[in-house]
Amino acid sequence: MRRVYNFSPGPAALPLPVLETIRDEMLDYQGTGMSIMEMSHRGKVFEGLLEDINQRLRKLASIPDRFDILYMTGGASAQFAFVPMNLSKRGNSAGYVNTGVWSEKAIEQAKLLGINAFDAGSSKDKNHSYIPNVVTKPGLDYLHITSNNTIYGTQFKKFPDPGDTKLIVDMSSDFLSRPIDWNKMGLVYAGAQKNAGASGITLAIIDRDYYAREPNELPTVFRYSTYGKNQSLYNTPPTFQIYVFGLVLSWIEKQGGLAEMARYNERKADHIYSVMDEFPKFYAGHSVKNARSLMNITFRLPSEELEQKFLKLAEERKLMGLKGHRSVGGLRASVYNAVGEEACQVLSVLMREFARQNGG
Ligand code: PMP
Repeated sequence: MRRVYNFSPGPAALPLPVLETIRDEMLDYQGTGMSIMEMSHRGKVFEGLLEDINQRLRKLASIPDRFDILYMTGGASAQFAFVPMNLSKRGNSAGYVNTGVWSEKAIEQAKLLGINAFDAGSSKDKNHSYIPNVVTKPGLDYLHITSNNTIYGTQFKKFPDPGDTKLIVDMSSDFLSRPIDWNKMGLVYAGAQKNAGASGITLAIIDRDYYAREPNELPTVFRYSTYGKNQSLYNTPPTFQIYVFGLVLSWIEKQGGLAEMARYNERKADHIYSVMDEFPKFYAGHSVKNARSLMNITFRLPSEELEQKFLKLAEERKLMGLKGHRSVGGLRASVYNAVGEEACQVLSVLMREFARQNGG
């Protein structure tokens, strides 16, 4: 078997024990004689699994009772539209913090619906290399932020105070990588394909009070309440992805939970950031230090030739997925939950060696 060190930005590495369980249960899920993909979402087995996953996620992430857990599709991209469609309306105002491409896509959807997107802070002036101060105003329907900026490698260390409204957080790239403070939270959403499973499933954890805001003309399948009131079984949900999500939850529980996951992620990222700090003239981090993401580590080398050379050498050592996003360039190491400390160490060794050999 040839498993590589996988630094892909998403879809991304899954824990090996999760993949092994999927393999073992593929033909016969727990004595049913069929795979999880082949059974009804309304049968006892699947409904039991869904209920179990719900309870375990609620416990793992300490989700208060006022929230429903929804299993949806369409990625975070669909949430960009779901949020303004369900929680605001034409002529109203909602706050948005612009920390990069994904925030901008969310803003775009609100504007399409005729909502005034109030600029509550932006890092655009410096190609999103920092987390801006957030300044809100009274009367907003919500305040939207992107907790981790996958492309740029910045992350909110502490969530801003939304004032008299609640926070909506796109956690696509750091969901379940650290504990979540639910205070002042209205809605958290995330595609599962980075820290929490396979692509094709989007988690939305929503304060039930929001259902009352839904406009009368909103079609049934685009209402959050439809998912909430039908335990996400109004239509056929992505059953296989829900199953994989459950396996990832068990794996996180075994690692010691979210606080432990956060400590582990800090230690992992530190292997890489410390080499960048050792060779600051060679490795130019995109993010300012106090906004450094523990999930996506972005940096440039002194020239594009050196970046190409580094990537080639990395691949020879089975370090894959390190090419940066085109809007930042350079390199990006995505070190989500399932990327082990060993992978980070191996990368840091190569970085140190490469800097020394190339005049760093
Ligand atoms: N938000 C963030 C922070 C992301 O990183 C991504 C995907 N990279 C998205 C939204 C879009 O997610 P999806 O492709 O699942 O719609």
